[in-house]
Parts: sequence; C-alpha cells; structure tokens
Amino acid sequence: MKLIKGDITKLTVDAIVNAANTSLLGGGGVDGAIHRAGGPAILEDCKRIRARQGGCNVGEAVITTAGNLPAKYVIHTVGPVWNGGKSSEESLLTAAYKNSLALAVEYEIKSIAFPNISTGIYRFPKERAAEIAITTVKGFLHTTGADFGVTFVCFDEENYRIYETLLY
Ligand code: ADP
Repeated sequence: MKLIKGDITKLTVDAIVNAANTSLLGGGGVDGAIHRAGGPAILEDCKRIRARQGGCNVGEAVITTAGNLPAKYVIHTVGPVWNGGKSSEESLLTAAYKNSLALAVEYEIKSIAFPNISTGIYRFPKERAAEIAITTVKGFLHTTGADFGVTFVCFDEENYRIYETLLY
C-alpha cells in the first residue's frame, strides 16, 4: 500500500476510484475533477449503467472507461453521507472500499488508486474514514490473497497527515 498527495486524475494506474453519488451523473469534488479530465466518454458509460440499473446504491460500485485519463478504468463507488454515525455510515464506507476492490479483481486490475471517499462534501470524519479505508484494504488483500498495488491519494494536507500517521 502506497500513499501520495495529489490529484488522482493524473495517475497512471489500471483503475482510479471515484467518490461518486447515487445518480452517477457527476458532481463536485473528485467526481467533478474526474469527469472534467476524463471527458464525455465516462458520462456516456455512466448513463448506460443508469439505463440498466438506475444508478448506484450507497456502498456499491460500478466500472466504466477512464476516457482520456491515463488510467484504464474508473471504478465509481458511492460512500455514505455522514449523518452523525448512527445510520450505518461505517459499514457503508467499508462496503464502498470492498466492492471497489471486488470489481478490480473481476477486471484483473493490478493497480488501483483510492481517494478519501466520503471525507469531502459527505463530511465523514477524516480520521475514522482513514482507519476504515486502511483496515478494509489490508483485510481484503489478506483474505483474498489478491495481488495488486493500492495507492491512497490524499488531496488535502489534513488527510495526508492522518494517513501518514496510520500507515508509517
Ligand atoms: P464525497 O462526496 O465522497 O465526500 P468529495 O469529492 O467531496 O467526495 O471528497 C472526497 C475526497 O476527495 C476529499 O478528501 C477531497 O479532498 C478529495 N479530492 C477532491 N478532488 C480530488 C482530486 N482531484 N484527486 C484526489 N482527491 C480529490
């Protein structure tokens, strides 16, 4: 597991993960950055998925092209909105990471990069979100024996410091 600070859209990995919303139609934060940098092909794929299954539920994940991005795929997952902690936010965030990783295995992806899902507009406490992200990824790699590189991409300094402390 690797940690970097920066913009996830710049990474040359097999798949980058998007912190999407249930509509899959794009939004602010990292979602907006991915659609802007990747171009319209990503939204076209998202619309096809919407036509088939009506979006993406919280905790689930879907996969699309990465359009013009250097990555091959975008895995769109929907993290929970933080609502005080009593609305299954922790298990839904865990599911978002797990289901993204399961899709990666299915698509024979060898390298994947995660943003700090739910810690922006969705207001999930950053420290707790980082613990969940790291524990879930570690647990998944351990139980499945899956062999791929996972990069945590922190955009803001606060998340970067938290991950640094937890990982090293
Ligand atoms: P959510 O709605 O799941 O909270 P946001 O996009 O608002 O999603 O925030 C998730 C995280 O993504 C935040 O920690 C934010 O700092 C980070 N972020 C925003 N833009 C980028 C980017 N270009 N690359 C990587 N991370 C980003």
